[in-house]
Amino acid sequence: MALQPEMLNIVLIPLLAPGHLIPMVDMAKLFAERGILVTIVTTPLNAIRFTSVIDRAISSGLPIQLLQLQFPCEEAGLPVGCENADALPSFKLMRNFFIASKMLHKPLEQTLQGLEPAPSCIICDKHLTWTVDLSNSLQVPRIVFDGMSCFTQLITHNLHNSKVHESVPETEPFVVPNLPDKVEFTKLQLPGLFNPGSADVDDIRREIRATETQSHGVVVNSFEDLEQRYVDEFRKIRGGKVWCIGPLSLFSKENLDKAQRGNEASIDTNQCLKWLDSHEPNSVIYACLGSLGRLVPSQFIELALGLEASNYPFILVIRGGEKTQEIEKWILDDGYEERIKERGLLIRGWAPQVLILSHSSIGAFLTHCGWNSTLEGICAGVPMITWPLFAEQFLNEKLVVQILGAGVRVGAEAVVDSITQERPGMKVTKGEVKAAIDMVMDKGIKGYERREKVKVLKEMAKKSVEEDGSSYLNTTLLIQDIEQLVKTYKQST
Ligand code: UDP
Repeated sequence: MALQPEMLNIVLIPLLAPGHLIPMVDMAKLFAERGILVTIVTTPLNAIRFTSVIDRAISSGLPIQLLQLQFPCEEAGLPVGCENADALPSFKLMRNFFIASKMLHKPLEQTLQGLEPAPSCIICDKHLTWTVDLSNSLQVPRIVFDGMSCFTQLITHNLHNSKVHESVPETEPFVVPNLPDKVEFTKLQLPGLFNPGSADVDDIRREIRATETQSHGVVVNSFEDLEQRYVDEFRKIRGGKVWCIGPLSLFSKENLDKAQRGNEASIDTNQCLKWLDSHEPNSVIYACLGSLGRLVPSQFIELALGLEASNYPFILVIRGGEKTQEIEKWILDDGYEERIKERGLLIRGWAPQVLILSHSSIGAFLTHCGWNSTLEGICAGVPMITWPLFAEQFLNEKLVVQILGAGVRVGAEAVVDSITQERPGMKVTKGEVKAAIDMVMDKGIKGYERREKVKVLKEMAKKSVEEDGSSYLNTTLLIQDIEQLVKTYKQST
């Protein structure tokens, strides 16, 4: 498509972590399919992760361009090549990672000043607080992308206002006030903003919170039918400017795009599909705890043994970070891989998650409840076994299990520390893992009803992004809003 100077050019500025970058790449396709030029800001090593996907989109005629900036690893005290949060050797370096992200401000500002067609608006991850100044100096509207659900947004808002969690003992359940449903948590289950671990990022968290509202509105990766009452309430809080345009994973439509989504898979995808083909429909448990979740070895062992004890075929994704060697040693010493080889597949590294989930042999998804994974489970129409680790994952678990009736908990009770990944004194056991799997796979009435509920959600998700679906219409409204804003900004300058 030939680029015209008057074309809308939406600049997407993602946080460089898989759970934030992946949905923004999908979002680029969504806008480009509506004939809008999209510029994705990235860095060389992140670009490598999605160039195949974007190149295919561009060859099919979609107006997408990449804008690459050098990531200042060394200047910020990061090892060379740490351009993505999942590449950090230790989460102790998260602060340095935010410092490096902030250093992108000036080079990006200079590059965007010379961009043709000029940026019409920036849609940026809410964690990139410096984009407030960027939008001011470029004189373009700033819209925030929040990688979380409206359910989470509303709970966060209400906890801030009520501070109810501050006056209860850590392990005592309390009710979050002013929600459409009765929802209870303990303080130990809350995200870092309310329950800081040992990570030295409190000031950054506060800055993110403070700048969230300094934007024209919020784009949410969700769909109305999934959490309508929460969308409505959140919209009231944000003066109507909330656009649910997801599930964004549905914009990875072709098998190749699903296979290469987020990174090059560390397993041959044909081999993976062949393995899945060799199993009965709805029989396989897919277990993956996200891109950043690194189970400590003692908990990995419980997960691995629980899967083995369940007697169902399974795929287990291993991401040990600093503890990989220890985990591998256990696998070898225990003879685990040899023992399970007839019905278990271990993927070390990056799994083609959406491709796997969309295979008919998948019967359930054991997930850490990252918001992307949660939506991907829903889009695949499979019930979930929930093992939240940190951030807002316990909130997502609550939505899945209590509100949607789409999953079963393994019984994790508290967030892990963001640096050590330990949850002292609170372990999930292999028996709990097996029990949750048995419950989800149950052929009785409860298991059947749960599966039916997720199938209904899957259909709703699909409809929402089709023409005239709610997410489709919200995207139209968002584009109209941006067009109007661009006019207003032009008149005022
Ligand atoms: N993902 C994947 N393969 C993996 C691990 C993760 O494709 O081996 C993708 C997953 O499909 C999802 C994203 O990475 O889109 C993880 O985002 P989520 O919000 O679920 O969790 P996070 O990693 O941010 O904790």
